[in-house]
Amino acid sequence: MPNSTQHFDLLVIGAGPGGYTAAIRAAQLGLSVGCIEKEPALGGTCLRIGCIPSKALLESSELYWEAKQSLAAHGVRLGQVDLDLPTMLGRKEQIVQGLARGIGELFKKHKIARLEGLASFIAPGRLRLSRTGEETELSADHILIATGSRSRSLPGVELDSDRIGTSTEALSYGAVPKRMVVIGAGAIGLELGSVWRRLGAKVTVLEYFDRILPEMDAGIAAEAQKILAKQGLEFRLGTRVLGARVAGDHCVVECADAAPVEADRVLVAVGRAPNTEGLGLEAIGLKPNDRDQIEVNEHFETSVPGVYAIGDVIRGPMLAHKAEEEGVACVERIVTGYGHVNYDCIPNVVYTQPEIASVGRTEEQLKQQGIKYRKGVFQFRANSRARAAGHSEGQVKMLADAETDRILGVHILGLHAGELIAEAAAAMSFGASSEDVARTCHAHPTLAEAIKEAALAVDGRTINS
Ligand SMILES: Cc1cc2nc3c(=O)[nH]c(=O)nc-3n(C[C@H](O)[C@H](O)[C@H](O)COP(=O)(O)OP(=O)(O)OC[C@H]3O[C@@H](n4cnc5c(N)ncnc54)[C@H](O)[C@@H]3O)c2cc1C
Repeated sequence: MPNSTQHFDLLVIGAGPGGYTAAIRAAQLGLSVGCIEKEPALGGTCLRIGCIPSKALLESSELYWEAKQSLAAHGVRLGQVDLDLPTMLGRKEQIVQGLARGIGELFKKHKIARLEGLASFIAPGRLRLSRTGEETELSADHILIATGSRSRSLPGVELDSDRIGTSTEALSYGAVPKRMVVIGAGAIGLELGSVWRRLGAKVTVLEYFDRILPEMDAGIAAEAQKILAKQGLEFRLGTRVLGARVAGDHCVVECADAAPVEADRVLVAVGRAPNTEGLGLEAIGLKPNDRDQIEVNEHFETSVPGVYAIGDVIRGPMLAHKAEEEGVACVERIVTGYGHVNYDCIPNVVYTQPEIASVGRTEEQLKQQGIKYRKGVFQFRANSRARAAGHSEGQVKMLADAETDRILGVHILGLHAGELIAEAAAAMSFGASSEDVARTCHAHPTLAEAIKEAALAVDGRTINS
C-alpha cells in the first residue's frame, strides 16, 4: 500500500501530445506539475506508435517509390533501386527515440516531475501510482486525465498481434507482405496501406461505407480514391467484414455477400477507443459515456471538481493537435480563468501522396445545415509550382458564406496539402473572408497560390484557369 505522498498543483495522467503539452504550459504558468506515464517513453500514441513513426515510414517509402517510378522523368537515372527495410525501420525508431528524449529534456527544463507508472484514482485529488509492485500515493489540487486511446477491433476479427494486427504492428512489419488487407479506409488505413503498397505489397482496402474518408469532403475524397487506385491500392467499398483469422500460412478475411479475401497481413484500422479502463474512475464517481469517453464541459471539467479531461479520451476528432490545444486551454483556464479552443478551425490531414487536408465544414455539412455558400475551386494542374514539382494532381476548394463571404471551409487535395492548410486555418481563425485571402499577396511560384486562386474563384475571377 502507499508508503509516501507527494503533492502537486497539477497532476497530468498521460504524456501524449495532450498531456505533455498541458504539463509544459502549466509549468510556464507557475504551477508545480507532475506527469504520470505508464510507458517508459514519453510522447504517447502520437510519438511512439502513431503520427511520427507513420510519417517517418511515409517519407521513406515515398522516396523509394519516387526513385523507382518518377525520377527518370526528371532526368535522374539510378541503377537498380533496392529496399533496405531494416534500415528504414531503424531510422523510424531513431526519430521516435530522439523526439521522446526531447520531451524528457523539456520536462527537466520546466521542472516537471516525470512519474513513471500506472495511475488510478483513490479519491478526488488523490492518485495511486503503481510501478513494478511498488505503490505510491500522490495528491494534487487539480488532476488532468489525458490517457488517450487505443485501437479498436471488429467482432469476429481475431487480433494475434502479428499477422492480424493494428497500426502498431503495421508500423514494424519485418518483411514486405505480398498481400495485405486493410480493414477501414480512414486516415490510418490509407496512410499505412500506402506505405506497404509503395514498398511492394498488393494492398486491398475493405471499407464498410460506400466511400473512403467518411469525414472528409465527398468530392475531394472521391478524387483522392481515384489517384490512390492508380497507385495500386484496390478498394472494395460497401464491404462488411464479418471476421478475420489466421489459416495456416496466411490470413482469411470473411466478408458479407462477397468472397473471402486472403492475405499475408491484415491491418485492422477501424477507429480508436478512449482509454478509461484501469483509471479507477469509479473511486471518484465518474462514469464514461456509452462511447467510453469522459464527459467534460467547455472548460474540460468533469462532473468531479478538480478533475479535468482532454484529448482522445473526450469527444471530438482524435487528433494530436486537438489534444494539444485542449491541454493548453484547460490549464490556462485553471490558472488565468480563460482558455478556449476554436473547434471550427481544427485542420485534419491525411498524409497520403497527394495529401488530403481540410479545415472547417464540408459542402455536405453546409447543405445539411441549410447554409448558403459560394464555392471556389482551383486545380493544381494550373499551378506552376505543382507542375514543376511533377505533382499536379488535385485541387483546392474554398467554401465561403454566400452573404458575408466569411470562409466556412477549405479542402485541399495535393502536394503538401498538410502544410498549405495552415494558411486556411489561420485565415479562418481570424474570421477572414475569401476576399481577404484573394487580396493577400502570395509568393510565386508556390503551391499556396492555388489557395489564392481558389479564393478568387469564389468570386468567379481566377487568373490562371
Ligand atoms: C498510426 C496512427 C497515426 C496517427 N497519425 C496522426 C496524425 O498524423 N496526426 C494527428 O493529429 N493524429 C494522428 N494520430 C492520432 C494521435 O496519435 C492521437 O490523436 C493523439 O496521440 C492523442 O493524444 P492524447 O494526448 O490524447 O493521447 P495519447 O497520445 O494516446 O497519450 C496518452 C498516454 O497516456 C498513457 N496512459 C494511459 N492510461 C494511463 C494510466 N492509467 N496511467 C499512466 N499513463 C497512462 C498512455 O500510455 C499514453 O502514452 C495517429 C494515430 C495512430 C494510431
